[in-house]
Amino acid sequence: MLIGVPAETSAGETRVAVTPETAKKLIAQGHRIRLQSGAGVAASATDAAYAAVGVEISDAAGALGAELVLKVRSPSAEELPLMQSGAALVGMLDPFHKPGLQALTDAKLTAFALEAAPRTTRAQSMDVLSSQANIAGYKAVMMAVDQYQRLFPMLMTAAGTIKAARVVILGVGVAGLQAIATAKRLGAVIEASDVRPSVKEQVESLGAKFIDVPYETAEEKEAAEGVGGYARPMPQSWLDRQKAEVAKRVAQADVVISTALIPGRAAPTLITAEMVQSMKPGSVIVDLAAGRGADGVGGNCPLTEAGQTVVKHGVTLIGETNLPARVAADSSALYARNVLDFLKLVLSKDASALTVDLEDDIVKACLMCRDGQLLRN
Ligand code: NAD
Repeated sequence: MLIGVPAETSAGETRVAVTPETAKKLIAQGHRIRLQSGAGVAASATDAAYAAVGVEISDAAGALGAELVLKVRSPSAEELPLMQSGAALVGMLDPFHKPGLQALTDAKLTAFALEAAPRTTRAQSMDVLSSQANIAGYKAVMMAVDQYQRLFPMLMTAAGTIKAARVVILGVGVAGLQAIATAKRLGAVIEASDVRPSVKEQVESLGAKFIDVPYETAEEKEAAEGVGGYARPMPQSWLDRQKAEVAKRVAQADVVISTALIPGRAAPTLITAEMVQSMKPGSVIVDLAAGRGADGVGGNCPLTEAGQTVVKHGVTLIGETNLPARVAADSSALYARNVLDFLKLVLSKDASALTVDLEDDIVKACLMCRDGQLLRN
């Protein structure tokens, strides 16, 4: 099958969906790969590195015109007309963004959004949310370190002692856990909060303290269990108690990293403007939910500005919206392997055709549209 790999055109997107490593494997399986010249450059993969494993270098139209197109982000309005009706598309296609999915449907594509894969053991090797969130959690700490005008570890020197940084992590999914592990390696003292009770043990096993907010009603406990491993909106009674506990920790924190998300909904507000005002000057907030707040602008903190680093009340707020793109080589390496594993489910053994098996729960969950029909409800 002819596989196309166009260069990403979304602002700030530096990743690429196929690396020379995964291209070599796909070619060994009998596929042809056509890459848009320069598609891998921002991720440290040159045209020469692709050509060395047998990839054909072409222009945008050549890559987008393939039978199967592998991308990081959804094709733009300019790219869609260059795609063939009936072609297949695999990428992070934003399954909660209906107008985007409608455009793919109208272009008569067979489109698979990898973010929609279930969080099951079998799907782990193709779990793009995990592979990219892991990197985001690491990079969030690195960006905080860069902005913070003090050190993370405790230092005892002849010139006196420097205290360890106090770091608070809000939301302990994949990104939050990696943020804890990374800050811990740098010697910070860490506290973390999440709605899901199962997280407490994981937080403690990484050497951080869990901010306990006990569940007082059956409704609170049930909501906290979440669904499919994801959080659900919590009752206001619990959120109010969590807010009081978090406010105390945030006032003492040097760095806050927030990652709290609820799929398909606005990110919860966990750091209010008053909490920011209570923080010490020079403190840093990294808001991984930037741009996903109720207003579509803020994040877990309403003062966050998506895509910007701003200083408010003496606190630096980092609102980077695509942290994996800042670690493009490794995030592409992991993403490309996720894509490669997913393709095993949808490509025939002889590399000649797309096979869409709707009995397969992963394929079914990822399939957004086919034959002009929107399948995501
Ligand atoms: P996510 O990005 O959807 O959310 C980040 C975190 O924010 C979650 O831990 C969530 O509970 C938390 N959160 C939401 N509202 C909050 C609030 N008001 N206060 C504090 N925290 C709040 O999560 P994710 O990283 O995608 O992980 C989701 C789940 O999937 C986790 O249970 C994770 O362990 C699980 N998972 C399973 C597998 C697998 O089994 N294959 C793989 C990866 C992840």
